Parts: sequence; structure tokens; C-alpha cells
Amino acid sequence: MGWDDTFDVVVAGSGAGAMTGALVAAASGLRTLILEKTDLLGGTSAYSGASIWLPGTQVQERARLDDSTENARTYLRALLGDENEAHREAFLEAAPQVVEFLERDPAIEFKWSPFPDYYAAPGRLDLGRSFMPLDLPIAELGESAALVRPPVERDRPGLGHDPDQPLGGGRALIGRLLLAFLNSGNGTVRTGTALTGLIVEGGRVTGVEAGGTRIRAARGVLLAAGGYENDDAMRGDLPGGAAWTMAPGGNTGDAIGAAVRIGAATAQFDQAWWCPGSVDPDGRASFTLGFRGGLMVDGTGRRFFNESLPYDQAGRAMNGHVPAHLIFDSRSKGRLPAIALPGAAAADHLEAGTWVKAGTLPELAGKLNLPADALTATVERFNGFAEKGVDEDFHRGEDPYDLFFAAGNDGPNPCLVPVDRPPYYAARMVLSDLGTKGGLRTDTESRVLDASGAAIPGLYAAGNTTASFTGPFYPGPGIPIGSGMAFAYRAVQDMKESA
Ligand SMILES: Cc1cc2nc3c(=O)[nH]c(=O)nc-3n(C[C@H](O)[C@H](O)[C@H](O)COP(=O)(O)OP(=O)(O)OC[C@H]3O[C@@H](n4cnc5c(N)ncnc54)[C@H](O)[C@@H]3O)c2cc1C
Repeated sequence: MGWDDTFDVVVAGSGAGAMTGALVAAASGLRTLILEKTDLLGGTSAYSGASIWLPGTQVQERARLDDSTENARTYLRALLGDENEAHREAFLEAAPQVVEFLERDPAIEFKWSPFPDYYAAPGRLDLGRSFMPLDLPIAELGESAALVRPPVERDRPGLGHDPDQPLGGGRALIGRLLLAFLNSGNGTVRTGTALTGLIVEGGRVTGVEAGGTRIRAARGVLLAAGGYENDDAMRGDLPGGAAWTMAPGGNTGDAIGAAVRIGAATAQFDQAWWCPGSVDPDGRASFTLGFRGGLMVDGTGRRFFNESLPYDQAGRAMNGHVPAHLIFDSRSKGRLPAIALPGAAAADHLEAGTWVKAGTLPELAGKLNLPADALTATVERFNGFAEKGVDEDFHRGEDPYDLFFAAGNDGPNPCLVPVDRPPYYAARMVLSDLGTKGGLRTDTESRVLDASGAAIPGLYAAGNTTASFTGPFYPGPGIPIGSGMAFAYRAVQDMKESA
């Protein structure tokens, strides 16, 4: 059986986990190939804010946070229980190690940035423990910058990077990891080349099929090619839908499928990293968070949750209530009183009908086909709560996370802003996701398991290609990326040790 190419490590995908694994391998002296299906590197990770939830590292120490691995353990245990204890411990152990390893490279530096953890539980930090990469001037990456997926607001309409802006957020993370990977002298990148199959010899994965070629992976294959966000058949009954996901189109569960074909086990296909989505004029959805005003109603014209909840919990609360509408007024000056990524201009929304505008609430209800009495009563009740400063129905504004985004609003409760200044607006809301979180079953060293629970030699997985150890929880900002990075790091350590 001939090979067209030989590497030590082959990585499928180029999100945060893939790039971390690839860099750790290449910087450890292993000849490493990154295979990316689309023409751009970074996947959903490039769209992200690149908040990274890796606790107990030198970054929190530099920021003098009152935090520790033990504190983070208390928090995770309070949320997740001990069901996935081994993975939780593997994650906590890897967190300081991967950060220390990455920051040894002059191209990589992280900085703590305030963003509250998502649950009121022991061990929570009200201003959070997650950190971000420093922005990366485009010139530092040179021509390779064109390989990094632009932010979602420029990528969806097919625009490249803004040449006058440094790469920020997820682009900075992918860009910095790419820079270090290329500088290592051991790294090769192939874009426009999808992994299509895994090659097994004597019970061990020894290579991959990609782009019509057979590529040997002497030490191992790392599958970190995202989830199955854009494949409705694979999504099955998963709430939301491919139409509303934030993941770019290449994420169709290919790596999960390839592993399943050689006997890998899967789990947790009922979970995603959910979020509210505001429907855009182009028919896609914008990740919507940080509500600083307005109230949301379902088809009954009534509120059904605390609109200021962290976005994954908000998404879960929206399940069964969508499509819904965010009702707001002229106080937000024609803008959505929230952060919407990518978002769109009010005029475009109004023309497309994704927003509706009216001079009175009954008129608005008529345009939305909602019961006018119910909508009017809901808004009046909400305005009463705003006056008192207490949301008697859903406790909006009682948690540090709620208040973080409403800072700067007036009134007895900054999260409760009256809706009483016409014209009134309604923005159509759906259930979106930032990625699926069911997939391949892995052990603590990120080895892919078969149906009997045994590791498949030579095969590893990380990120949304795997069933996340966080189950139905999204503990804090940066868990998807942080856990992807930690488990990709562990995968490569295992490849090194098992040589
Ligand atoms: C606007 C936004 C902000 C966010 N902010 C944060 C944040 O701050 N912190 C955080 O932790 N999370 C954040 N998220 C969520 C997070 O970005 C994703 O859940 C996570 O990055 C997914 O990482 P991944 O590596 O599993 O997949 P991805 O980053 O999606 O990468 C998968 C890659 O694999 C490629 N691929 C697919 N199939 C193949 C194949 N057959 N062969 C080769 N390549 C293939 C895809 O094309 C893609 O490039 C955010 C998401 C969005 C949309």
C-alpha cells in the first residue's frame, strides 16, 4: 500500500484546538500537516471573540486574579457533578500546561479580560477568569494573513480582512498559532483539502485520505474539524437548525463520520453551545447577546425568561418558544439593544421584514400576528417592574452577568429599561448555536474510543468533533475554545509518549 506523503502528525481542521495541537506537535519536532477543507483557516474559532476559559494558568497569575485550579475545580464540580470527573481533572491539569507551552513562543501572548462566569455557583469569579490573545498586526503575519478566515460580518458577504485593522479575537488566536506553526519549520498547511477517510492497518490508524491522496501519519491523526452544525440530517432533532447556526459551511460532521466508519463511538448528540439568534435580512442568524434593553415575547405575546441570561442558558430557555420577538422602542435609537454578530442595519431589517415597526403596541401586535391584549399587558407589566427595579417574573438584573452588559443604563435596575417611547420595534428571534457539542467519545488523553470503550490506536479528537465533558452546561466564556485547546494538547502529549 503506497503513500503519497508522510508526516508524523496529521491534523484535520484548523480551529483553535486543531491549530493548538498542530503547533504543539510541530514545536516538539514532529512534522505536522494541517488539512483544512475550506479555502480559509480558523472555522468558527476565527469568528469567535477568542475568550479562552483555561483556569489556573500564568495568565490569571499575571493579572493577579484571586483564582486557582482548586477554585475552578470547585466551580466545575458544582455545575457538572462528578460524572465526568476524569475529563474535568484532565482539563484542569492541562490548562496551565498548554498555556505555558504556547506562551514560550514569541508569537503568542494572552491577556486576562473581564467577562463573568455564567453560573451563580461556588468558585465563580464575577469578572471571570478567561483571557484572550493580543491583537495581531496583519503585517506580522504577512501574506499568510489572507489564509485566516475574516470576522463573520466580513466573511459572510465575502469581504476579506480590513487591511487597516489588526487581526482581533479569534483571528488573532488563529493568526498567532499559524505564525508560530509556520515559524517552527515543521509545519505544512493545505487548505481546500478535506479529510475524507481514515486508513487503518493492523488495527491502528496510520493515515488519512484527503484530496484524493493517501497521507501517512506516523504518530497519529488529530480530528479537530468542528461539529455537524451545517448538516440537518445529522442534526436530526437537535433544536435550532443548519439555517441558524453560526458555524461556517464547512462544518458538516465529516471527521465524526470518518471515525464512525472505522468503529468509533459517539455520544451526546442532543447538545450544542446554544445562543439567541436575531434573524438577518439575508436569512441567516446573528449571535445575539448582552441585552441592555427590550423584552422578548413568544407567540402568546408573553415573556418567558430572563432575557439577560448568559447566551447558552438563554438559548435553552428559548427552545420551544421560537420564533420569538424582541420588543424595543426608540430609546435605542433604531438599533437592537443588544450585541448582534454580524448584525445588520435597521433600514435593511425593516425592508426585509426581519424587524417590524409601529406607532403603538396594538399596531405592532397586529403586524406580528400576536394577541394585542397580551402584548400590551406584557409590556405594561414589564414597565412596572422597571419602575420598581425588580423583575418579579424572571429576576432579570439580579446576577452579575446580567449587570455586566447593562452597565451605563439608568434606573433602579439597569437591566430593566422601560419600553414606552414609540415607535416600537420587534426583531425576529430564533434559536442559534455556536457549535454542536456531541460527537466522538474520547478518553482523558483525547484518544478516540470504540464501542467497547477501548482506544483506537493512532486516532485522537478535540473540540466540537468530540462529546464535550461539560454536558448540558456552558460554564463560562471560552469553554469551547479552552477545552478544545486543552484536549488537543493532551492528544499530542500522548502521541509523543506512545512513540
Ligand atoms: C461570533 C462567535 C463568537 C464566539 N466566541 C467564543 C469565545 O469567545 N470563546 C469560545 O470559547 N467560544 C466562542 N465561540 C464558539 C467557538 O468559536 C466554537 O464553538 C469553537 O471555536 C469550535 O471550534 P472547533 O475547532 O471545534 O471548530 P471550528 O473552529 O469550527 O473549526 C472546524 C474546522 O474544520 C474544518 N473542517 C470541517 N470538515 C473538515 C474536513 N473533512 N477536513 C478538513 N477540515 C474540515 C472546517 O472547515 C473548519 O475550518 C464563538 C462563536 C461565534 C460564532
